Amino acid sequence: MKKTIRDFDLNEKRVIIRCDFNVPLKDGKIADDNRIVESLKTINYAIENGAKVILMSHLGRIKTEDDKIKNSLEVVAVRLSELLNRQVIFSPETRGKKLESAIAELNSGDVILIENTRFEDLPHKLESGNDKELATYWANLGDIYINDAFGTSHRAHASNVGIASIIPSGVGFLVEKEIKMIGDVIANPDRPFTVILGGAKVSDKIGVIKNLVNIADYILIGGGMAFTFLKAKGLEVGKSIVDEDSLDFCKDILNNYSNKVILPIDIVCGNKVTEDAMATTKSIDNISIDDMGLDIGTNTILMFTEYLNNSSTVIWNGPVGVFEISQFSLGTKSLASALTRLDITTVIGGGDTASAVIKMGYKESFTHISTGGGASLEMLEGVSLPGIEAINDR
Ligand code: ADP
Ligand code: MG
Repeated sequence: MKKTIRDFDLNEKRVIIRCDFNVPLKDGKIADDNRIVESLKTINYAIENGAKVILMSHLGRIKTEDDKIKNSLEVVAVRLSELLNRQVIFSPETRGKKLESAIAELNSGDVILIENTRFEDLPHKLESGNDKELATYWANLGDIYINDAFGTSHRAHASNVGIASIIPSGVGFLVEKEIKMIGDVIANPDRPFTVILGGAKVSDKIGVIKNLVNIADYILIGGGMAFTFLKAKGLEVGKSIVDEDSLDFCKDILNNYSNKVILPIDIVCGNKVTEDAMATTKSIDNISIDDMGLDIGTNTILMFTEYLNNSSTVIWNGPVGVFEISQFSLGTKSLASALTRLDITTVIGGGDTASAVIKMGYKESFTHISTGGGASLEMLEGVSLPGIEAINDR
């Protein structure tokens, strides 16, 4: 069990909270402040408990001086001030005398946000390379370190693993929830436990399949990856996407877990992947050489829904069709709406799946929608995440 923010006396302490403020920006403005909103619980807890709050985050990738201008966290400080209803001091420097004296002047309950940690990636990748000297410098700014940035927890950077290895550390409420809803659920699921796997490529998800095929009772396969499985069974898949390199892997999985791995029985095929595509539903033994499989068909939706209705836990990673185009979105929409009607544990992992169900208006309808794309995938793979590993145990 990892320590959490609740395990510390925060009063008068300088508490560094590593947040995930990696928000989408458009024309210099925040396009979606969800990640800032999600961070409020931990920040407010620290404020209410008398901490001197020091916030750190990265934003985008920093490779050139131009990237620095485009990826300043100053807009986040402004939005955060509004959301917290109190002044958030912004430090345009990631280190130096000005930053140090601003922190020295903090009173209990004050909040400072330090500029984008990845500014330290130019020119020497000090943040992303987990530079020891940088981590030590940052660690010395605080008394306690809290990791609440799940989305970067699969990386070992100076602002997470680095600082956590030097001063006492715990996880924030967001990371705690991710561990509970993904890590603990996989470790001990209420059964039947069903996994929906989709997305574009099998090769992206091999680690996830290998891990979950041993844990889940059923794995429902949709999305682009279904066609590598169907081809592995000897079926014609036309122009659907196929990972030739993963054919043998799929054959092995089908041989060893034939009762667990459930493939589509019909497919919505299109002639192209555009808004004006013609969509036709075909049974899987009827796909012609010119067809492109772009969604699961209605019979598959019904079959998959049966499995979901009989489950106690469902984890879903990967849209089951090209949901971005309306003709090919019914599968993803139908499974999402079926899940929201069930009173069971429902967890969404994966960046595109999360944004798909949020766009459908289901943000509050799942037990948990993971905030980390890559990090949630690695957790589904059963590998331990360095940013969480580095946190003190209870
Ligand atoms: P996540 O981010 O949730 O892990 P992925 O990145 O693996 O999901 O996959 C998302 C993408 O998969 C979407 O952009 C979607 O259009 C695509 N996709 C789903 N089904 C198909 C298909 N049949 N053919 C091609 N692409 C597909
Ligand atoms: Mg994705």
